Amino acid sequence: MDRKVFKLPFTRVAIQDWQCPTCQKGLLRIKEGTFFSEETSLSKKAHDHEAWDPDWISSVYSCLLECSNNSCKETVSNIGKGFVDWDIEHDEHGYPEQVYGDFFKPLFFHPHLKLISVPENTPDEVKKKLNDSFQLFFSSPSAASNHVRAAIESLLNNLNVNRYRVSNGKRRLINLHQRIDLLPAKYAELKDLLIAVKWLGNAGSHSGKELTADDVMDAYEIMEHILSEIYENKSTKLKALAKKVNKAKGPKS
Ligand SMILES: [Zn+2]
Repeated sequence: MDRKVFKLPFTRVAIQDWQCPTCQKGLLRIKEGTFFSEETSLSKKAHDHEAWDPDWISSVYSCLLECSNNSCKETVSNIGKGFVDWDIEHDEHGYPEQVYGDFFKPLFFHPHLKLISVPENTPDEVKKKLNDSFQLFFSSPSAASNHVRAAIESLLNNLNVNRYRVSNGKRRLINLHQRIDLLPAKYAELKDLLIAVKWLGNAGSHSGKELTADDVMDAYEIMEHILSEIYENKSTKLKALAKKVNKAKGPKS
């Protein structure tokens, strides 16, 4: 996963290479004539302040993005916020100079971007929780991380790990950590990974501190590996491995 694509702001001349969520082949580009941005009213009022600087400016924007793949051409709506910061431009002699430039950060995409690849055989309930997470990724990393934790609960349900235990004749919920421990031996290698995602999800729900985009991307990358281990077609993986060995005409390394 190229994290910069989801973390860095974009400018009117250089937008990030977001992959089309529908065909997952083309890249999204701003559809001509659809980009609008305006300074917020509070930001406009602040111009009167004696210490005002252009980097005080904040704005909102909206635009339509279009997939570059001609056989898809999906349209994605996008909104977010803008700000002003130093940018580098080249003068007529080719020397770099610092100028103020407009930068934009997305808050929502609809349909949402797909931040990791999810194997086709993944249970629908797990896919749904991950999609809920991708939807919230740009606007609320903590909420997004919470949904990855929920995806693990669904994953354990799908692997038939008990949700309840009976004690003194009463049915009690088993907590997530204990459920992970109940996984059958063949998933032993995945336990540490699942527990890591659980910790990140816990931080998203309970601590007062907002998680960062990087925290959520940690959870996504671990989740991508877990799902690939459980649901990816093993023969596809072996074929890819054989191809590498054959190409090297010997061991891969
Ligand atoms: Zn597309």
